[in-house]
Amino acid sequence: MNENERYTGKPEDPSRTKGSFDVIVIGGGIAGCSAAIAARRHGRSVLLIEKLTVLGGLATTGHITIYLPLDDGYGRQVIGGISEELLKLSTKYAYHGTDIRTWKEEGRRYECKFNGPAFSLALEELLVTEGVEILYDSLFVGGLMHGGICKGVFVENKSGRSLYAAKAVVDASGDADLFFRNGSRCIAAKNSLSIWFYATDSEGPADDGSCINQNRGGRDAPGIRLISMGRIDTKARKHIVNVPYYGDSAEDVDRFIKDSHSSLLSEMKRNPTLEPASLPGMADIRMARRIEGAYELSDRDANMHFDDNIAGTGDWRRPGPVYEIPYRTLFNDHLENVLCAGRCISVSGEAWEIIRCIPQASATGQAAGTAASQLIEEGTTVRNLDVRKLRSTLKADGVILDVNKENRWTGN
Ligand SMILES: Cc1cc2nc3c(=O)[nH]c(=O)nc-3n(C[C@H](O)[C@H](O)[C@H](O)COP(=O)(O)OP(=O)(O)OC[C@H]3O[C@@H](n4cnc5c(N)ncnc54)[C@H](O)[C@@H]3O)c2cc1C
Repeated sequence: MNENERYTGKPEDPSRTKGSFDVIVIGGGIAGCSAAIAARRHGRSVLLIEKLTVLGGLATTGHITIYLPLDDGYGRQVIGGISEELLKLSTKYAYHGTDIRTWKEEGRRYECKFNGPAFSLALEELLVTEGVEILYDSLFVGGLMHGGICKGVFVENKSGRSLYAAKAVVDASGDADLFFRNGSRCIAAKNSLSIWFYATDSEGPADDGSCINQNRGGRDAPGIRLISMGRIDTKARKHIVNVPYYGDSAEDVDRFIKDSHSSLLSEMKRNPTLEPASLPGMADIRMARRIEGAYELSDRDANMHFDDNIAGTGDWRRPGPVYEIPYRTLFNDHLENVLCAGRCISVSGEAWEIIRCIPQASATGQAAGTAASQLIEEGTTVRNLDVRKLRSTLKADGVILDVNKENRWTGN
């Protein structure tokens, strides 16, 4: 051994607690970041565990760099709070600055495109400034359960397996990993193959309608452009077995990743000018596993009012439908101190198609983080939490509630 070397330490002893936190957040996607910020702003010590090396999840590492609208399509803002804060943050360090300021005047929707890596760095800067502890390159592998109470979480990383204690946990893994591993009933959906990648900005192939979609984003760095490859043309498809991707098993995710790579390669062989600059660092699966929660929000709930709503949302695809998201979509009947956030909350059908997106992931993250903090204060369970108080805290924190209150229908 020379002076530039050292003996490496021993693997952690997983029976010893390595650290204790009020709130542990699993996953540093948009939902997890929002949950962590919310819990921290309410005075809690927070550990955020992320298996990758940057924050943002699909929004940044998956190259999904379009922050969908915060409005109802008719000029009424229906999402506020941390989600609006992050929309602004997403373009803070963008090369071209921001293009979101004049949305109302121009009759556009309140949305923006952003540069993924710049947003990741801005998120990390914000979380560190707020005092959230981030543990990168660490995979959540299980909960320390006492009945329905999660007393801590196990992570695997370079140190081996470690245990971190928690009073409340937010599962923002995108796939409800904690709920799933604890035997809670979860639901998986069929997904189509897709891959969002960057390509160098040469002349490139035209979007001939066969399989590629060029999202020429105002926020892309000069010289590259974002291409989403959603539909796979028949030529590219020949070697792909036509079985749906649910994204809820190792084999499924592996097949999705390999098929998306090989279809891109086929496209490159067909269009020699197509030169990738960056591939997504996680599988671009839209809806994998979600919880079966205390309430399942569905299409029939469009324009309905729920007394326990913790956020609202419009439909990013068209003006019109507005949803209130009930608090009960964030937990199930089995886990007492665990909240779900982001694309794996309890919502089905078209409503899932809407609520899985970036603004909504942030909104449910804020609600879950705030609820986790309140849970500790009240010493209660997720089901018995004082929802009235939760709603008034969220309102004070800029969240827009009761977007359907004036409607006749009620979903309570
Ligand atoms: C192809 C495609 C197109 C889309 N288009 C848009 C669009 O244009 N606009 C839009 O707003 N939304 C879009 N979406 C949806 C949106 O990108 C995501 O649904 C949203 O970003 C989800 O955020 P999340 O935080 O819930 O989950 P994720 O982004 O999945 O974050 C989960 C995080 O948890 C981490 N993690 C997972 N498991 C573990 C573990 N066991 N241990 C530790 N860490 C873990 C992951 O690494 C990740 O960082 C699209 C999605 C896809 C796939």
